[in-house]
Amino acid sequence: MSIYRIAIDGPAGAGKSTIAKAAAKQLGIDYVDTGAMYRAIALKLIRTGTDYNDPKALVALLESTDVDFDSGRTMLDGEDVSGLIRTQEVSEMASASSAVQAVRDKLVALQQAMGKRKSLVMDGRDIATKVFPDAELKFYVTASSLVRAERRAEDMKAAGQPCDVKQIQAEIEARDYRDMHRENSPLTRVPEAVLIDTSYQTIEESVAEVTNRVKALQSKGNKRGKRWKTTEKI
Ligand code: C5P
Repeated sequence: MSIYRIAIDGPAGAGKSTIAKAAAKQLGIDYVDTGAMYRAIALKLIRTGTDYNDPKALVALLESTDVDFDSGRTMLDGEDVSGLIRTQEVSEMASASSAVQAVRDKLVALQQAMGKRKSLVMDGRDIATKVFPDAELKFYVTASSLVRAERRAEDMKAAGQPCDVKQIQAEIEARDYRDMHRENSPLTRVPEAVLIDTSYQTIEESVAEVTNRVKALQSKGNKRGKRWKTTEKI
């Protein structure tokens, strides 16, 4: 394999980016967090007060916006915005504006261009369906809504914030529903994607599911032994 693309999709909070980042590091290839790209556009919409429902204003903004990565940092028009895109306000704007086709067209084109130049692990919601439908390997990372809510609650407790697991679980389920039922690029698991359920796995086990499959694919051509064949009509 010369250039290879690893697509990782899944709902929010299941562990996609933790797995994608660690797998990319172990494999020595780039990691692209597409959620950060939608967040960077959202930050610019907020800063400039642009209405994403106004097609003219949105196109003008998109045409004059550059989103890229530099050593793992998210760059918006040359500025490092990594520390500014994880707020609740940006999350909400990213969730709403990522449903607009013009925003998706711009970012999908940038993501596809990145995959032409070098091998990478890319995570998001539409990587296997829209960005790289021909990716060499596809994964769908998930975890039960209760486990995701409990993880989030632990983070909030550690930060000294009050929280209610049942309420967080309800919010997670509502966001899943929105992501899976939106008109443009809904989150779907393609049949060929390997399912990774992180609910009862350690991070190391989840990362190994990705890296072991990449290594198996890389060594496929060199292996001796009998090849699998279909013996029955299917
Ligand atoms: O993954 P993250 O939560 O950072 O994504 C931010 C927002 O961008 C989410 O609301 C998600 O629906 C959207 N998104 C998307 N397509 C992607 C990645 C993220 O629509 N490929």
